[in-house]
Amino acid sequence: MSLQVQGLVKHFDGVKAVNGVTFTVEPGECVALIGPNGAGKSTTFACIAGQHPPTAGQVLWNGERIDGLRPAQRLQRGIARTFQVAQTFEALTVLQNVQLLTQYPRGLAAYNVLDSGDSQPASALLEQVGLHNLAHAEAQDLPYGAKKRLELAMALAGRNTGLLLLDEPAAGLATEERATLMALVKSLTQPQAGRAGTAVLYTEHNMDAVFGVADRVLVLIDGAIAAQGTPDEVASDATVRQCYLGQWWEKPLHA
Ligand code: ADP
Ligand code: MG
Repeated sequence: MSLQVQGLVKHFDGVKAVNGVTFTVEPGECVALIGPNGAGKSTTFACIAGQHPPTAGQVLWNGERIDGLRPAQRLQRGIARTFQVAQTFEALTVLQNVQLLTQYPRGLAAYNVLDSGDSQPASALLEQVGLHNLAHAEAQDLPYGAKKRLELAMALAGRNTGLLLLDEPAAGLATEERATLMALVKSLTQPQAGRAGTAVLYTEHNMDAVFGVADRVLVLIDGAIAAQGTPDEVASDATVRQCYLGQWWEKPLHA
């Protein structure tokens, strides 16, 4: 159950957003894709999840090429994603948002039976992300941190989610909320009931959401991987310090 990204290229007219990116993510691994704004993180994600067709290169999941498949076909194969700005169904309750996806095999027909369907799987997911107390609140009334957690529950709702793609899962959260959410993300990679842990690939532009969370870090700069390794290895990499980390590591000292 591994993700293989091989020579991925994505150009938008003249903009070379992703320029030959190769990496793998194994089951149970938590991998962070970090880099400055505009480095190509979201575009790499969109190519893996199916929102953008790659200009060149391949994306394989369990040995099968998926880069030509629609997002819904990737979801059927266990690949789920969240967005940099949380996407939820605003007028539905928290529970209904997750129910729509736990009842996903019914497609839109699930919408008509939200209140009569079995809500147990959705409730269990809300418990897992710590939102059970807000199950009957409308999504539009949630504080942003709770909305990010709802989106995570929705991404986990596929029965066979094997790969979770999280685009800046902690963006817009206060420090304490960030830590809680990242601990939750990390916990998803643990094996459960004899099943291998979920593979998680997340983007981030700060190193602080990487230490203690990511097993491995890929540093993307100008659409290419400039360094990779454990968080400690990457943090002490000369190129990374010069091109990227130095910019914000040194900032607080001079602020
Ligand atoms: P990151 O997520 O690392 O901040 P993005 O992947 O969003 O970076 O963007 C990488 C580059 O591609 C940027 O220069 C951005 O302006 C450009 N880009 C992203 N999406 C599009 C698009 N749909 N059309 C044109 N250019 C885009
Ligand atoms: Mg982005």
